Amino acid sequence: MISSFHPPQRILMGPGPSDVNPRILEAMSRPTIGHLDPLFVGLMEEVKSLLQYAFQTENQLTIPISAPGSAGMEACFVNLVEPGDKVIICQNGVFGARMKENVDRIGGVAIMVEDAWGEAVDSEKLEKALAENPETKIVAFVHAETSTGALSDAKTLVEIAHKAGCLTIVDAVTSLAGVELNVDAWNIDAIYSGTQKCLSCTPGLSPVSFSANAQEKIKNRKTAVQSWFLDMNLVMGYWGDGSKGAKRAYHHTAPINAMYALHEALVILKEEGLENSWARHYKHHLALKAGLEAMGISFIVKEQDRLPQLNAITIPQGADDAKIRSRLLNEYQLEIGAGLGALAGKAWRIGLMGHASNQTNVLTCLSALDSILTSEGAKINSGVAVNAANGVYS
Ligand SMILES: *Cc1c(COP(=O)(O)O)cnc(C)c1O
Repeated sequence: MISSFHPPQRILMGPGPSDVNPRILEAMSRPTIGHLDPLFVGLMEEVKSLLQYAFQTENQLTIPISAPGSAGMEACFVNLVEPGDKVIICQNGVFGARMKENVDRIGGVAIMVEDAWGEAVDSEKLEKALAENPETKIVAFVHAETSTGALSDAKTLVEIAHKAGCLTIVDAVTSLAGVELNVDAWNIDAIYSGTQKCLSCTPGLSPVSFSANAQEKIKNRKTAVQSWFLDMNLVMGYWGDGSKGAKRAYHHTAPINAMYALHEALVILKEEGLENSWARHYKHHLALKAGLEAMGISFIVKEQDRLPQLNAITIPQGADDAKIRSRLLNEYQLEIGAGLGALAGKAWRIGLMGHASNQTNVLTCLSALDSILTSEGAKINSGVAVNAANGVYS
């Protein structure tokens, strides 16, 4: 007979989902109320304003899409790209390829500007591509490439795109709350994120934000948005367009309890403070880095472009990728990420995202890796990692 499912308590240090703060799980278990209940409408308003804080924006159209990060991606593309539109996509990992999939399916023309996996997006290549394709309407790129651990200079890339008269779509699924991100100061037009990375919430929602220029473009489209569910004209009618007392029209039923969870996650972020959250991610990255480097393990990404919340490292010589990861899971309840795409079998990805970015996790991970890699006969310096990390903390 099939009975209730009781998962073990894991330590989630992969590319997401990350450890969920128990406060968030508790919030999720509160009573479900109707999605048009005045109290729920009040909660929606608070979620919008908390998201404006997280994104550092005053954009009225700042809401969570009722589906995971990939749906936020799709929402940005289907609303801003019309058939025939030229879109430059700067690709430096897995997620840029998905942007191309979106543009292709819409009937847009994707122009790929490629950088090596593990490198930040090269702004000079973007400038050159824009000069060669003056009729480009949109520039899209990933701020924090989770597949490689590289951070790109969003501010500069957006500036270059705007000089060429383009709107910008930015993937901030892994960057939000983990590294500096200022939607208004950087003039980003459309941005999407996810709940299960540095917000440490359960997976399943995708915060998005659209600037006034992006909204203008959506309102003046010549063609209907291909996706009924993700059509922001309709979604706006459900979430309210910012005007006081605007009537809410039923579009879909918001995932009520997931919304309690996001609300709690954002309250936690506000309590900590955004800058403090960025600083905490950086501090624990430095400790993990000290431990890994003492072991003799190297990073894929060069120092100035590294994401603190996603540490992509080379698998040491003599280590069996799958076996080590399964021993970590079975013996330590610890999940780290495998390499993705071009880095499959070559890299591990250690996430220090949100609630998971803490000293206990850093030390546990280093000590588990040290012990398992040593027992497997991998080529590392044994017994020094934890001390090296503690050196950063003391
Ligand atoms: C995780 C991730 C996504 C997709 O988010 P899902 O919630 O898995 O759909 C998109 N972009 C980046 C950079 C990501 O890390």
